[in-house]
Amino acid sequence: MAIYTLPPEHPHLSADDPGLLDAVAAGAARLTPEQGLAALRSLPLHDLGRAADARCRVLHGDELRTYVIDRNINYTNVCTARCTFCAFRRDADDHDAYTLDKQAIYDKVAELVAIGGTQILMQGGMNPALPLDWYTDLLRGIKSRFPGVHVHAFSPPEFIEFVQFFDPPGDSLEAKLRWVMVRLRDAGLDSVPGGGGEIFSHHVRRKIGLGKCDAEAWLMTMYVAHSLGMFTSATMMFGHIEGLADRVHHMWLVRQWQDRALAMSDVGPRGSCAPGHYKAFISWPFQRENTPLGRVPDFGAREEDFAAPGRLGDFAGDMLAELNGTICGENSLTNEQVLERVPAFGRRVRMSSATDYLRTQALSRLFLDNIYSIGASWVTMGPHIGQVALAFGANDMGSVMMEENVVSSAGTTYCLDEAVLCRLIRDAGFTPAQRNNTYDLIRVHAATPDAPDLAVKDWSAHRARRMHQQAPLVPKAATAALTVGATK
Ligand code: SF4
Repeated sequence: MAIYTLPPEHPHLSADDPGLLDAVAAGAARLTPEQGLAALRSLPLHDLGRAADARCRVLHGDELRTYVIDRNINYTNVCTARCTFCAFRRDADDHDAYTLDKQAIYDKVAELVAIGGTQILMQGGMNPALPLDWYTDLLRGIKSRFPGVHVHAFSPPEFIEFVQFFDPPGDSLEAKLRWVMVRLRDAGLDSVPGGGGEIFSHHVRRKIGLGKCDAEAWLMTMYVAHSLGMFTSATMMFGHIEGLADRVHHMWLVRQWQDRALAMSDVGPRGSCAPGHYKAFISWPFQRENTPLGRVPDFGAREEDFAAPGRLGDFAGDMLAELNGTICGENSLTNEQVLERVPAFGRRVRMSSATDYLRTQALSRLFLDNIYSIGASWVTMGPHIGQVALAFGANDMGSVMMEENVVSSAGTTYCLDEAVLCRLIRDAGFTPAQRNNTYDLIRVHAATPDAPDLAVKDWSAHRARRMHQQAPLVPKAATAALTVGATK
């Protein structure tokens, strides 16, 4: 059995040392967090992109770039948390609160299967009205009707709330998580998506993710999933109040836990069929529409953001952020104590530009040397930036989007079908290939007339469409009735 060995670090080299970047691209060296931060801050955009592209080509070759056909199903928008970046959540008694009934979910899966889809990504708000039986019945119902569909469902914050709602046996969070996850796995859960990662640093997370689990609980959930042999993904939502060092710290935690997972399963990052580790990392910039955080002024929009006339001052997020995720060695400061140190923290957002997105994604490819897939985020950045992202370290264009409710509530409107995704990949210089959840190839679309994109005669019907917004399907009274028989 192969033993997974870590590439060496060379902390004495600067981030712009061409030999270092070449070695990282070849998988022969690893960036330190300090080098990662320096690269994110100041490497020229194209140098960062070239190195990330070289690394991607080492792992994924020069020819194929992938996509998957899956469907996002947001089974409920009722949520106990109040994330300030979220426009999706509702209180249970809001007029547009909803919980899908199971038949509606089966109908959605049937529509997915009809277009050749292989996976559902099912996530919701954290709804205390739904007992464990509701989830296990749903999973069994999906698997009995659609045995070939991969169920990628329930992000770590949902699992942490399941522990609160279901009160499972166990004398530690890990034991309780394991109890719940085993039951969901046995009912049909195949893998765990990395939603709710946001930014791991406590001072940022506490400010934007009100009522949502902390980083330790998030990472523990994924550790349990890995130890049960499941694939997971990791995510990061950036471009709000965080500093650049917070982004690198976030990636660093993912990298450290991935090292442990790979050591546990004794495989390398290229082992596409090996169980129990992070299979992909996807990052995207914060979308502001309809969100409380989005109403916070932009950094640079107010006079006080200028330290000297005409000159932008330091961003408060950068003044606080440290690579170890603490503030001066502490990670338990209250919001008030944080504000005593940097009063402007959280009072401005620094929205990401396209280049900031591309820089961050390119760094993720280089820094996360132990993660197989880096996904392009066209859902938030738009199809053409997503296409450019294929030259900045991304190997995967994600999913044909039949439906999305969470990010689209915050203003995103991009919705692409298979033909458009294939064309974007081909126009970027690659051959599109449909993959499954384990990144095995299902179909490679060589340049033949029957390829999804090359078969199109009229592109007018294939433009990006506004995403679907889920209408209430179950009356609130029916949702409340689901509490009857709740599993304790
Ligand atoms: S982001 Fe998720 S956990 Fe946070 S409020 Fe929205 S639905 Fe709830």
